[in-house]
Amino acid sequence: MAKAYEIVIIGAGPAGLTAAIYGVRANRSVLVIGGKNPGGQLMLTTDVEDFPGFPEPIQGPELVKRMTAQAKKLGAEFFNDNVVSVNTNKQPFQITTETKKRFSAKTVIIAVGSAYKWLNIPSEYKFKGHGISTCAVCDGAFFKNKDVVVVGGGDTAMREALFLSNLCKTVTVIHRRDILRAQAVLQERAKARKNIKWLWNSEVSEFLGDKNLESVKIKNNKTGKEGVLKIAGAFIAIGHEPATQFLKGKIALDAKGYVAVKKDSWTETSVPGIFVAGDVRDFRYQQAVTAAGFGCMAAMDADAYLHGFREVSEKSKQKYNKK
Ligand code: NAP
Repeated sequence: MAKAYEIVIIGAGPAGLTAAIYGVRANRSVLVIGGKNPGGQLMLTTDVEDFPGFPEPIQGPELVKRMTAQAKKLGAEFFNDNVVSVNTNKQPFQITTETKKRFSAKTVIIAVGSAYKWLNIPSEYKFKGHGISTCAVCDGAFFKNKDVVVVGGGDTAMREALFLSNLCKTVTVIHRRDILRAQAVLQERAKARKNIKWLWNSEVSEFLGDKNLESVKIKNNKTGKEGVLKIAGAFIAIGHEPATQFLKGKIALDAKGYVAVKKDSWTETSVPGIFVAGDVRDFRYQQAVTAAGFGCMAAMDADAYLHGFREVSEKSKQKYNKK
């Protein structure tokens, strides 16, 4: 087995990349295993207007490119493949990827983010890639001048609807309540678009079509009334769930699959030497900037651990008590 890296970061979104920057700046050997499609949710985002330091909007993939370049320039190494297992029983930890590449790590930072949630109705599977998508930036162009729906009422749904409204004839937002969860500025922008229509208190009960999606059956959850809307595409934007399947039984996860942290700690998991950062833990804020801050904390805690503080939270308690 090759040398053990001092810090191996699994995930290359803003959390993982910021952890890499702080790790190498602490003079640690750092490897980022970025997954087959590195970059996280930002890769599917167009204008980013809320990341400090960019008075003009920056495109999500461009922001990832710059963070990656910064981490590389400072000395972080990168390998892009999906991690399939982490052996947490002995140290150094052994990490195996899909192509059977194995890496050894004195500490690990889990920063794998989250994956799209699906409605989980049987006909949804039939039309995935045949009219149903979770990414307007990737697939929107297939629906130029056509009618589409977006399911969801959060920030992602508004962003998807706004992006699609520039391409499609109409975009109908189907939301299960009559109040949006999305931030006010996105709501206002979406409501101002003439070709964005709204179906409130409504849920998709079935997707219909032959080979490709042709229409969607919608039920009003207040009146029970059902109707069918002819559409060419449906974009599901109902949130995310943590991408932690490969960690089941290896470290403690909470009931919804997010990585659990120790009491009085932000980043320490149930396994000493394994830390967590970003959306795979943070189910509340889930912003690029909070993920980046979280990555910084995890790298600082991994560094403290490598300095011999086996209980990082103990170290911070000592610091607090001294003040
Ligand atoms: P979200 O905020 O969790 O919103 C999910 C939406 O989907 C909610 O409106 C929810 O309805 C609906 N929903 C959930 N499960 C459903 C189901 N089974 N059937 C029908 N509808 C369902 O998720 P998100 O919009 O992906 O955002 C996730 C996080 O990323 C948030 O913190 C958000 O602020 C952040 N984000 C930020 C930006 C930005 O520009 N700053 C962009 C994208 C995402 P209810 O409202 O009824 O619960």
